[in-house]
Amino acid sequence: MNERDSEAVTGILFDKGYQAAASTEEADLILYNTCSIRDHAEQKVFGRMGAFRKLKEKKPELVIGIMGCMAQEHGENFFKMNPEIDLVCGTGNLSQIGDLVEEIQRGRAGARHAVPIQKLAIDRIDDDYGLDGIQYRADKLKALVTIMKGCDHRCTYCIVPYTRGVEISRSSESILREMKDLASRGFQDVMLLGQNVNSYGKGLDENMDFAGLLEKIQAVAPQIPRIRFITSHPKDAHTRLFAVMRDLPSVCEHLHLPVQSGSNAVLRRMKREHTREWYLEQIEEYKRFLPQGSLSTDFIVGFPGETEKDFADTLDLMEKVEFDSAYIFTYSERPGTPATKLKDDVTEQEKSRRLQEAMKLQRAISLRKNQALIGTSQEVLFESKTRRDENRYGGRTRTYKRVVVSSAQDLVGQMRQVKIVAAADETLLGELTS
Ligand code: SAH
Ligand code: SF4
Repeated sequence: MNERDSEAVTGILFDKGYQAAASTEEADLILYNTCSIRDHAEQKVFGRMGAFRKLKEKKPELVIGIMGCMAQEHGENFFKMNPEIDLVCGTGNLSQIGDLVEEIQRGRAGARHAVPIQKLAIDRIDDDYGLDGIQYRADKLKALVTIMKGCDHRCTYCIVPYTRGVEISRSSESILREMKDLASRGFQDVMLLGQNVNSYGKGLDENMDFAGLLEKIQAVAPQIPRIRFITSHPKDAHTRLFAVMRDLPSVCEHLHLPVQSGSNAVLRRMKREHTREWYLEQIEEYKRFLPQGSLSTDFIVGFPGETEKDFADTLDLMEKVEFDSAYIFTYSERPGTPATKLKDDVTEQEKSRRLQEAMKLQRAISLRKNQALIGTSQEVLFESKTRRDENRYGGRTRTYKRVVVSSAQDLVGQMRQVKIVAAADETLLGELTS
C-alpha cells in the first residue's frame, strides 16, 4: 500500500514538472514515506533524521516532507521532534501533496504545513489521488491497484485503523476503468490492494462484493494474465471467493490469509473474530477448491499473555496448514491501541526465542513444499535479472514462488514454461522448456 502511495505521489509530482534526482544530495525535495505498523519501522525513520538534517545544513532551500502513517500518527509533533522537517502529510491528504510542496517552495504558506488527522476520510477514494488522470507507473510489468482503503476491524494490537481510517471501497466503475487502461498498456500482473479486500463493496451504492469485482475484472480486462490480491481477513474469506479463484483464469492460485496465532485464547485477546478451528476449516475448504494453490500468512509471536502452550499451538497450526511462506513478527506495542492495556508479560528475550523457533519451523516447511515441486513444469513471469549474475533471471509462478533460471537471452517481461530442478526455502531453480 505504501508502494502504491509513493508511486501515486511520484506521478503527481511528475505531472507538475518535477524530475527524479540522481541522489538525495542533489535533490531539492525529499518526501519520506513512512510505516507505523511496528516500532522497528518507526525507529528506522527517526534514524534517518540526522542525515536529513546534515543535507539541509548544506542546502537550506531543500524541502523535506514526511508522508504516510507516521505523519498521520504524529502530526505536528514531528516539527517539534525534528525541526528540519518542512511538511507532514497524512495518509488521507496525499492528493494535495503536490500543491503543498509548491506552496512551500514558493515560500507562500510560511515555512511549514501540518496536515491534521481529521482529514483522514475526506479524500474521495474514486479519485485515488487523482490517478484517473495520472498515468505514471513505477513498473512496466506489474501494477498495484487500490480497491479499498482503511479497516473496520479492531485487532487489539493494530494501529492501521487509526492511521488509515475506516473502510471505504472504490466504485467498481473506477476500478474497471483503471484495469482496462492497464490491460491496454500491456501489464501482466496486477495486485489489488486493501486492508481487508473480502469486505470490498460495503457501503457502496452498487450491489457488488469482492468475488463479483473479480468476475467483472476478468470480463473487462482478460488480457491481464495474472490478478492477485492482498489482504484477506479469515473471517470474511469464504467458499464463493475460493470458487472464483478456481474458476477465473486470470486470478492467481495464491491466498495470503493472516492468522496471527494458533491459540484461541490469544486470538480472543487479539480480537481477531475467529477461532483456530474456523481458520483450519477455511484452509481445508481452500485446499479442496485449489489443491495446487499456495498459502501464506502472518504470525505475531509474544503477544501479551502468550504462554508456552499458546506458542506450541501456533507451531502446531503451522505444521497442520503447511504454509508455503509466512511473515513472522514479534509483538510490538503500538501507542493508543487497546492491547497497550494488556500486561505484556513475555520478555524480549523470550519473544525473540519464539520468533527464531517459528522461523526455523517455517523454513523447514517451505523447503519441504518447494522440494515437492522438483520435476514439475511451472509458468513463470520473468521480472528481473538477478543481482549476482548477469545471465540469471528471476520471476514468479502464479502461486508466487520465486524461480531463477540461467539464460543467454533476455527474459524480462516474458512468460515461459520452466522445469523445476532444485529448491531452497525461498527460491526454486529451473530450466526453460519453452
Ligand atoms: N490487514 C491485514 C494486516 C495488515 S498489517 C490483515 O489483517 O491481515 C500486516 C501484519 O503486520 C499483520 O498481519 C500482523 O501480523 C503484523 N502486525 C500488525 N500490528 C502489529 C504489531 N503491533 N506488532 C507486531 N506485528 C504486527
Ligand atoms: Fe489491522 Fe486487524 Fe485491520 Fe488487519 S484486520 S488492518 S490487523 S485491525
